[in-house]
Amino acid sequence: MQVRDIQRVLEEWAPRTAAWEHDNVGIQCGDPHMSVRGVLICLDITEDVVRDALRRRANLIVSHHPLLYHPLSSITSTTRVGRTATTLVRKGISALAAHTNLDAAPEGTSSALAGILGVRDPEPLDHSFGLQVKLVTFVPAADVDRVARAMAEAGAGIIGNYTQCSFRTEGIGTFQGNAESTPAAGRRGKYERVPEVRLEMIVDRDRLPAVLAAMRHAHPYEEVAHDMYPIGNAHPRFGMGAIGNLRRPTTLGAFLRRVRRMLGTGALRYTGDVRRRVVRVAVCGGAGSRFIEHAIAQHGDVFVTSDVSFHRFQDAAGRIALIDAGHHETEYPVLATIAGKIREACRARAERIPVAVSAVRTNPVAYA
Ligand SMILES: [Zn+2]
Repeated sequence: MQVRDIQRVLEEWAPRTAAWEHDNVGIQCGDPHMSVRGVLICLDITEDVVRDALRRRANLIVSHHPLLYHPLSSITSTTRVGRTATTLVRKGISALAAHTNLDAAPEGTSSALAGILGVRDPEPLDHSFGLQVKLVTFVPAADVDRVARAMAEAGAGIIGNYTQCSFRTEGIGTFQGNAESTPAAGRRGKYERVPEVRLEMIVDRDRLPAVLAAMRHAHPYEEVAHDMYPIGNAHPRFGMGAIGNLRRPTTLGAFLRRVRRMLGTGALRYTGDVRRRVVRVAVCGGAGSRFIEHAIAQHGDVFVTSDVSFHRFQDAAGRIALIDAGHHETEYPVLATIAGKIREACRARAERIPVAVSAVRTNPVAYA
Protein backbone atom coordinates (compact mmCIF):
# COMPACT_ATOMS: atom_id res chain seq x y z
CA MET A 1 0.00 0.00 0.00
CA GLN A 2 1.08 3.54 -0.67
CA VAL A 3 0.78 6.51 1.66
CA ARG A 4 -2.21 7.75 -0.34
CA ASP A 5 -3.97 4.37 0.15
CA ILE A 6 -3.67 4.69 3.94
CA GLN A 7 -4.85 8.29 3.60
CA ARG A 8 -7.89 7.03 1.68
CA VAL A 9 -8.64 4.45 4.40
CA LEU A 10 -8.56 7.16 7.06
CA GLU A 11 -10.52 9.71 5.06
CA GLU A 12 -13.27 7.32 4.08
CA TRP A 13 -13.82 6.93 7.82
CA ALA A 14 -13.05 10.52 8.85
CA PRO A 15 -13.51 12.64 5.69
CA ARG A 16 -11.63 15.91 5.32
CA THR A 17 -14.99 17.61 4.74
CA ALA A 18 -15.76 16.94 8.43
CA ALA A 19 -12.67 18.86 9.63
CA TRP A 20 -12.96 22.38 10.97
CA GLU A 21 -12.33 25.12 8.46
CA HIS A 22 -8.87 26.18 9.59
CA ASP A 23 -7.60 22.75 10.50
CA ASN A 24 -4.75 21.19 8.54
CA VAL A 25 -5.43 17.50 8.04
CA GLY A 26 -4.07 14.97 5.56
CA ILE A 27 -0.49 14.51 4.38
CA GLN A 28 1.80 16.81 6.37
CA CYS A 29 4.97 15.86 4.55
CA GLY A 30 6.30 13.07 2.39
CA ASP A 31 5.34 11.31 -0.80
CA PRO A 32 1.75 10.13 -1.41
CA HIS A 33 3.08 7.46 -3.79
CA MET A 34 5.66 6.05 -1.39
CA SER A 35 5.16 2.41 -0.62
CA VAL A 36 4.47 1.94 3.11
CA ARG A 37 6.83 -0.36 5.02
CA GLY A 38 5.40 0.21 8.48
CA VAL A 39 2.93 2.55 10.22
CA LEU A 40 3.43 4.20 13.58
CA ILE A 41 0.48 5.92 15.26
CA CYS A 42 0.67 8.70 17.85
CA LEU A 43 -1.14 11.76 19.15
CA ASP A 44 1.82 14.10 18.54
CA ILE A 45 4.87 13.73 16.31
CA THR A 46 7.81 14.49 18.57
CA GLU A 47 11.49 13.85 17.89
CA ASP A 48 11.26 10.78 20.13
CA VAL A 49 8.36 9.45 18.07
CA VAL A 50 10.43 9.89 14.89
CA ARG A 51 13.25 7.92 16.54
CA ASP A 52 10.70 5.24 17.47
CA ALA A 53 9.59 5.09 13.81
CA LEU A 54 13.21 4.72 12.66
CA ARG A 55 13.81 1.95 15.19
CA ARG A 56 10.75 0.09 13.91
CA ARG A 57 11.57 0.83 10.23
CA ALA A 58 8.15 2.48 9.91
CA ASN A 59 8.08 5.07 7.12
CA LEU A 60 4.60 6.49 7.79
CA ILE A 61 3.56 8.26 10.98
CA VAL A 62 -0.14 8.88 11.52
CA SER A 63 -0.82 11.50 14.17
CA HIS A 64 -3.94 13.04 15.65
CA HIS A 65 -2.51 16.53 16.15
CA PRO A 66 -1.16 17.92 12.86
CA LEU A 67 2.61 18.53 12.92
CA LEU A 68 2.07 21.58 10.70
CA TYR A 69 -0.82 23.58 12.04
CA HIS A 70 0.07 27.25 12.08
CA PRO A 71 1.39 28.59 8.76
CA LEU A 72 5.22 28.44 8.73
CA SER A 73 7.55 31.00 7.23
CA SER A 74 10.67 28.95 7.87
CA ILE A 75 11.74 25.42 8.74
CA THR A 76 14.84 25.56 10.90
CA SER A 77 16.48 23.56 13.66
CA THR A 78 15.60 26.26 16.18
CA THR A 79 11.97 25.19 16.54
CA ARG A 80 10.44 21.87 17.58
CA VAL A 81 8.30 21.70 14.43
CA GLY A 82 11.23 22.70 12.19
CA ARG A 83 13.54 20.04 13.66
CA THR A 84 10.91 17.33 13.47
CA ALA A 85 9.85 18.18 9.91
CA THR A 86 13.49 18.27 8.77
CA THR A 87 14.20 14.84 10.24
CA LEU A 88 11.06 13.37 8.67
CA VAL A 89 12.03 14.64 5.23
CA ARG A 90 15.67 13.64 5.63
CA LYS A 91 14.77 10.11 6.74
CA GLY A 92 12.07 9.62 4.11
CA ILE A 93 9.21 9.32 6.57
CA SER A 94 5.78 10.57 5.54
CA ALA A 95 3.36 12.07 8.05
CA LEU A 96 -0.41 12.03 7.93
CA ALA A 97 -2.81 13.78 10.33
CA ALA A 98 -6.46 13.12 11.20
CA HIS A 99 -7.52 15.83 13.63
CA THR A 100 -10.96 17.48 13.88
CA ASN A 101 -12.20 15.20 11.09
CA LEU A 102 -11.44 12.30 13.44
CA ASP A 103 -13.12 14.10 16.35
CA ALA A 104 -16.32 14.44 14.32
CA ALA A 105 -16.32 10.96 12.78
CA PRO A 106 -18.41 8.03 13.98
CA GLU A 107 -16.07 5.77 16.00
CA GLY A 108 -13.83 8.83 16.32
CA THR A 109 -11.99 10.41 19.26
CA SER A 110 -14.97 10.79 21.58
CA SER A 111 -16.58 7.44 20.70
CA ALA A 112 -13.32 5.70 21.58
CA LEU A 113 -13.22 7.56 24.91
CA ALA A 114 -16.87 6.72 25.60
CA GLY A 115 -16.24 3.07 24.75
CA ILE A 116 -13.30 2.69 27.11
CA LEU A 117 -15.37 4.21 29.93
CA GLY A 118 -18.18 1.70 29.40
CA VAL A 119 -20.69 3.97 27.62
CA ARG A 120 -22.99 2.00 25.32
CA ASP A 121 -24.13 3.15 21.85
CA PRO A 122 -22.79 6.71 22.12
CA GLU A 123 -24.39 9.44 20.01
CA PRO A 124 -22.73 12.77 19.13
CA LEU A 125 -23.19 15.49 21.75
CA ASP A 126 -23.28 18.19 19.09
CA HIS A 127 -24.07 16.99 15.60
CA SER A 128 -22.05 18.50 12.72
CA PHE A 129 -23.95 20.80 10.38
CA GLY A 130 -23.47 21.47 6.70
CA LEU A 131 -21.70 18.21 5.80
CA GLN A 132 -24.31 17.35 3.18
CA VAL A 133 -25.72 18.78 -0.04
CA LYS A 134 -28.96 18.23 -1.90
CA LEU A 135 -28.26 17.07 -5.43
CA VAL A 136 -31.04 17.52 -7.96
CA THR A 137 -31.11 16.26 -11.53
CA PHE A 138 -33.75 16.08 -14.25
CA VAL A 139 -34.27 12.69 -15.90
CA PRO A 140 -36.70 11.24 -18.48
CA ALA A 141 -39.21 9.09 -16.55
CA ALA A 142 -38.05 5.85 -18.18
CA ASP A 143 -34.49 6.34 -16.85
CA VAL A 144 -35.15 7.75 -13.40
CA ASP A 145 -34.91 4.46 -11.47
CA ARG A 146 -31.62 3.57 -13.12
CA VAL A 147 -30.09 7.00 -12.43
CA ALA A 148 -31.32 6.99 -8.81
CA ARG A 149 -29.91 3.50 -8.23
CA ALA A 150 -26.52 4.46 -9.66
CA MET A 151 -26.42 7.55 -7.45
CA ALA A 152 -27.44 5.50 -4.40
CA GLU A 153 -24.74 2.92 -5.10
CA ALA A 154 -22.19 5.75 -5.08
CA GLY A 155 -23.44 6.89 -1.65
CA ALA A 156 -26.40 9.25 -2.25
CA GLY A 157 -29.75 9.02 -0.46
CA ILE A 158 -28.74 7.70 2.96
CA ILE A 159 -30.88 8.97 5.85
CA GLY A 160 -30.28 7.15 9.17
CA ASN A 161 -31.28 3.52 8.72
CA TYR A 162 -32.67 4.15 5.24
CA THR A 163 -30.91 3.95 1.90
CA GLN A 164 -32.04 4.89 -1.65
CA CYS A 165 -34.00 7.88 -0.27
CA SER A 166 -35.09 10.23 -3.06
CA PHE A 167 -37.91 12.60 -3.92
CA ARG A 168 -39.37 12.82 -7.42
CA THR A 169 -41.61 15.41 -9.07
CA GLU A 170 -42.88 15.20 -12.63
CA GLY A 171 -42.51 18.22 -14.90
CA ILE A 172 -41.50 19.44 -18.32
CA GLY A 173 -37.89 20.06 -19.34
CA THR A 174 -37.09 22.26 -22.33
CA PHE A 175 -33.94 22.62 -24.41
CA GLN A 176 -32.62 23.38 -27.86
CA GLY A 177 -29.31 21.83 -28.91
CA ASN A 178 -26.87 23.80 -31.08
CA ALA A 179 -25.15 22.53 -34.23
CA GLU A 180 -22.58 20.55 -32.21
CA SER A 181 -25.13 18.84 -29.98
CA THR A 182 -26.26 15.21 -30.16
CA PRO A 183 -29.44 15.21 -28.05
CA ALA A 184 -30.63 11.89 -26.61
CA ALA A 185 -34.20 13.12 -27.00
CA GLY A 186 -35.52 15.19 -29.94
CA ARG A 187 -33.44 16.77 -32.72
CA ARG A 188 -30.48 19.15 -32.86
CA GLY A 189 -31.48 22.77 -33.53
CA LYS A 190 -35.11 22.16 -32.59
CA TYR A 191 -36.84 23.47 -29.46
CA GLU A 192 -37.90 20.45 -27.39
CA ARG A 193 -40.35 19.95 -24.52
CA VAL A 194 -39.76 16.64 -22.75
CA PRO A 195 -41.56 15.08 -19.76
CA GLU A 196 -38.90 14.71 -17.07
CA VAL A 197 -38.68 13.83 -13.40
CA ARG A 198 -36.95 16.13 -10.96
CA LEU A 199 -34.92 13.64 -8.89
CA GLU A 200 -33.47 14.90 -5.61
CA MET A 201 -31.20 13.08 -3.20
CA ILE A 202 -29.14 14.03 -0.17
CA VAL A 203 -25.36 13.43 -0.45
CA ASP A 204 -22.51 13.62 2.06
CA ARG A 205 -20.00 16.15 0.73
CA ASP A 206 -17.16 13.64 0.69
CA ARG A 207 -19.22 11.30 -1.52
CA LEU A 208 -20.09 14.06 -3.98
CA PRO A 209 -17.37 13.39 -6.62
CA ALA A 210 -18.35 9.70 -6.79
CA VAL A 211 -22.08 10.47 -6.89
CA LEU A 212 -21.68 13.13 -9.61
CA ALA A 213 -19.65 10.69 -11.71
CA ALA A 214 -22.27 7.94 -11.24
CA MET A 215 -25.07 10.37 -12.09
CA ARG A 216 -23.35 11.52 -15.30
CA HIS A 217 -22.57 7.97 -16.28
CA ALA A 218 -26.14 6.66 -15.76
CA HIS A 219 -27.96 9.71 -17.15
CA PRO A 220 -29.02 9.39 -20.81
CA TYR A 221 -28.44 13.07 -21.69
CA GLU A 222 -25.35 14.57 -23.28
CA GLU A 223 -25.50 17.52 -20.88
CA VAL A 224 -26.71 16.48 -17.44
CA ALA A 225 -28.62 19.40 -15.92
CA HIS A 226 -28.20 19.33 -12.15
CA ASP A 227 -28.26 21.64 -9.13
CA MET A 228 -26.38 21.38 -5.87
CA TYR A 229 -27.73 23.07 -2.78
CA PRO A 230 -25.78 23.35 0.46
CA ILE A 231 -28.07 22.22 3.26
CA GLY A 232 -27.83 23.05 6.94
CA ASN A 233 -29.08 19.70 8.27
CA ALA A 234 -27.38 18.19 11.29
CA HIS A 235 -25.55 15.06 10.13
CA PRO A 236 -27.08 12.06 11.91
CA ARG A 237 -23.74 10.30 12.49
CA PHE A 238 -21.08 13.03 12.57
CA GLY A 239 -20.53 15.43 15.44
CA MET A 240 -18.41 16.44 18.39
CA GLY A 241 -18.41 14.66 21.73
CA ALA A 242 -20.44 11.59 22.62
CA ILE A 243 -23.22 10.74 25.07
CA GLY A 244 -24.79 7.46 26.17
CA ASN A 245 -25.64 5.33 29.18
CA LEU A 246 -23.52 3.02 31.30
CA ARG A 247 -24.63 -0.60 31.45
CA ARG A 248 -25.22 -0.24 35.22
CA PRO A 249 -25.62 2.90 37.30
CA THR A 250 -22.73 3.77 39.56
CA THR A 251 -21.67 6.61 41.84
CA LEU A 252 -19.49 9.52 40.87
CA GLY A 253 -16.85 8.24 43.30
CA ALA A 254 -16.67 4.84 41.57
CA PHE A 255 -16.81 6.45 38.14
CA LEU A 256 -13.86 8.72 39.00
CA ARG A 257 -11.83 5.62 39.91
CA ARG A 258 -12.83 4.01 36.61
CA VAL A 259 -11.74 7.10 34.62
CA ARG A 260 -8.38 7.19 36.39
CA ARG A 261 -7.78 3.50 35.89
CA MET A 262 -8.91 3.30 32.25
CA LEU A 263 -7.18 6.51 31.10
CA GLY A 264 -4.15 6.21 33.34
CA THR A 265 -4.48 9.85 34.40
CA GLY A 266 -2.14 10.88 37.20
CA ALA A 267 -4.83 13.00 38.84
CA LEU A 268 -8.35 14.13 38.01
CA ARG A 269 -9.81 17.57 38.54
CA TYR A 270 -13.55 17.38 39.08
CA THR A 271 -16.60 19.00 40.55
CA GLY A 272 -19.59 17.09 41.94
CA ASP A 273 -20.74 15.01 44.90
CA VAL A 274 -18.98 11.61 44.93
CA ARG A 275 -22.25 9.97 46.12
CA ARG A 276 -24.10 11.31 43.06
CA ARG A 277 -25.70 8.60 40.87
CA VAL A 278 -24.08 8.33 37.44
CA VAL A 279 -25.69 6.55 34.50
CA ARG A 280 -25.73 9.00 31.60
CA VAL A 281 -22.20 9.92 30.59
CA ALA A 282 -21.12 12.64 28.18
CA VAL A 283 -17.54 12.85 26.95
CA CYS A 284 -15.42 14.91 24.61
CA GLY A 285 -11.85 13.84 23.92
CA GLY A 286 -9.45 16.81 24.04
CA ALA A 287 -10.52 20.34 24.92
CA GLY A 288 -14.32 20.06 25.06
CA SER A 289 -15.48 22.53 27.73
CA ARG A 290 -17.59 24.38 25.18
CA PHE A 291 -19.93 21.36 25.13
CA ILE A 292 -20.84 21.47 28.84
CA GLU A 293 -24.23 23.02 28.09
CA HIS A 294 -24.89 20.32 25.48
CA ALA A 295 -24.12 17.65 28.08
CA ILE A 296 -26.47 19.31 30.60
CA ALA A 297 -29.26 19.76 28.03
CA GLN A 298 -29.02 16.06 27.14
CA HIS A 299 -29.36 15.08 30.83
CA GLY A 300 -25.77 13.93 31.32
CA ASP A 301 -24.96 13.04 34.93
CA VAL A 302 -21.28 13.57 34.26
CA PHE A 303 -19.13 15.12 31.53
CA VAL A 304 -15.56 13.94 30.95
CA THR A 305 -13.29 16.20 28.92
CA SER A 306 -10.07 18.20 29.36
CA ASP A 307 -8.55 21.67 29.56
CA VAL A 308 -11.37 22.86 31.83
CA SER A 309 -10.94 26.35 33.28
CA PHE A 310 -11.84 27.45 36.80
CA HIS A 311 -14.88 29.37 35.57
CA ARG A 312 -16.18 26.41 33.59
CA PHE A 313 -16.04 24.33 36.78
CA GLN A 314 -17.89 27.16 38.52
CA ASP A 315 -20.61 27.16 35.81
CA ALA A 316 -21.03 23.38 36.01
CA ALA A 317 -21.09 23.03 39.80
CA GLY A 318 -24.43 21.65 41.00
CA ARG A 319 -25.69 21.15 37.43
CA ILE A 320 -23.49 18.29 36.17
CA ALA A 321 -20.48 16.44 37.53
CA LEU A 322 -17.53 17.66 35.48
CA ILE A 323 -14.23 15.79 35.16
CA ASP A 324 -11.03 17.11 33.60
CA ALA A 325 -9.14 13.93 32.74
CA GLY A 326 -6.30 15.43 30.68
CA HIS A 327 -5.99 16.32 26.99
CA HIS A 328 -3.57 13.53 26.08
CA GLU A 329 -5.38 10.95 28.21
CA THR A 330 -8.84 11.62 26.76
CA GLU A 331 -7.58 11.42 23.17
CA TYR A 332 -5.28 8.45 23.57
CA PRO A 333 -7.99 5.71 23.25
CA VAL A 334 -8.67 6.60 19.59
CA LEU A 335 -5.15 5.51 18.60
CA ALA A 336 -6.19 1.88 18.98
CA THR A 337 -9.17 2.52 16.68
CA ILE A 338 -6.87 4.09 14.06
CA ALA A 339 -4.56 1.07 14.29
CA GLY A 340 -7.54 -1.26 13.93
CA LYS A 341 -8.83 0.50 10.80
CA ILE A 342 -5.41 0.43 9.10
CA ARG A 343 -4.79 -3.22 10.05
CA GLU A 344 -8.21 -4.17 8.70
CA ALA A 345 -7.43 -2.44 5.38
CA CYS A 346 -4.05 -4.21 5.19
CA ARG A 347 -5.71 -7.56 5.87
CA ALA A 348 -8.36 -6.90 3.21
CA ARG A 349 -5.56 -6.38 0.68
CA ALA A 350 -3.50 -9.26 2.03
CA GLU A 351 -0.62 -6.89 2.80
CA ARG A 352 1.66 -7.52 5.75
CA ILE A 353 2.48 -4.06 7.01
CA PRO A 354 3.37 -3.68 10.69
CA VAL A 355 1.01 -1.16 12.34
CA ALA A 356 1.78 -0.03 15.89
CA VAL A 357 0.80 2.63 18.39
CA SER A 358 3.97 4.37 19.56
CA ALA A 359 4.96 3.57 23.11
CA VAL A 360 6.77 6.91 23.40
CA ARG A 361 5.28 9.16 26.06
CA THR A 362 4.35 12.40 24.31
CA ASN A 363 2.24 13.95 27.06
CA PRO A 364 4.07 17.13 28.09
CA VAL A 365 1.99 17.28 31.30
CA ALA A 366 3.11 15.43 34.43
CA TYR A 367 1.40 15.09 37.82
CA ALA A 368 3.32 15.66 41.03
ZN1 LIG B 1 -6.23 17.45 20.95
